[in-house]
Amino acid sequence: MKRIAVLTSGGDAPGMNAAIRAVVRGGVARGMEAFGVRYGYAGLMADNMIPLGPRDVGGIIGRGGTILGSARAPEFRTEAGRMQALHNLNARGIEGLVVIGGNGSQAGAAALAQMGFAVVGVASTIDNDLVGSDITIGVDTALEVALEAVDRLKVTASSHGRAFLIEVMGRGCGYLALMTGLAGGAEAIVIPEVETDPEEIAGVIRESYEHGKPHAVVVVAEGAKLNAAALMSYFGQHQERLGFEVRATILGHVQRGDDPTASDRVLATQLGAAAVEQLAQGQSGVLVGMIQGQVVATPYAEVLSGSKPIDLNLLALAQMLNR
Ligand code: ATP
Repeated sequence: MKRIAVLTSGGDAPGMNAAIRAVVRGGVARGMEAFGVRYGYAGLMADNMIPLGPRDVGGIIGRGGTILGSARAPEFRTEAGRMQALHNLNARGIEGLVVIGGNGSQAGAAALAQMGFAVVGVASTIDNDLVGSDITIGVDTALEVALEAVDRLKVTASSHGRAFLIEVMGRGCGYLALMTGLAGGAEAIVIPEVETDPEEIAGVIRESYEHGKPHAVVVVAEGAKLNAAALMSYFGQHQERLGFEVRATILGHVQRGDDPTASDRVLATQLGAAAVEQLAQGQSGVLVGMIQGQVVATPYAEVLSGSKPIDLNLLALAQMLNR
């Protein structure tokens, strides 16, 4: 394989740049030429690509976001959209593609691979909802950001004797909320994987008050039915029964923008280089991820049909220690 391309797609995740760097330099080390596709599948369909040499990816290993830009491109779900992308890749003599992104992006990569083009995915999303990698690129950084927010909100909550609902990202997956809550010593954690009664959360807040805690912190996953807005509306105008006055903070996109942690840089570097190695070996239709400390390539059929379990023992542990 002489010429490869790399793109970042879906939600940006800290560490994507480190992965781009590893793909480009890993490719060059194998005598390949590399192209960067701007704005994910939108750029692939619009033939928006730039040659990338080793110097073009200098100084990005520690930068958040993605130098290539990312996008959501609904037309790529259509056969016509993917045919256009294939045409552009072929016209440039590109023989292999690395797709750095989450679930949706890997579904797009699988569809392209099924059309006979060599595609390898790199597991990258702050949601950590991707089968084929115990932890995905960006999770560690997003977790640190969310945790810092929890630590800060706890300080002000304690000063005023308040309860805080802190909503973190994660789409339909509660991993980020669970780990943030556990690491932040939250009094309660609400995740989509577990049906939660709002009265139970009201009870935890009331108990925290009665046990003499200066605050109560509830970490809520954005994908939970009982998200921060739903809980606030349930508590309504009668917060006095909770003991604490309750405030809600939605962290939102602030969790995405930080520079990647050491773990995310190392993970992205390993996975980016491994993706090129897979292409060089003639592999296609696989996602590279980290499983039990080993870089593993998992076929898309397995990646896209499964769902990643969450360790509910950690939720039970957090609940046991919240008194
Ligand atoms: P994150 O979970 O971090 O937000 P993601 O990769 O899951 O990232 P999505 O918005 O789900 O983000 O998908 C990104 C893009 O992948 C879509 O805009 C679309 O271009 C493409 N895509 C998603 N699903 C498919 C599919 N089934 N077939 C073809 N392309 C798809």
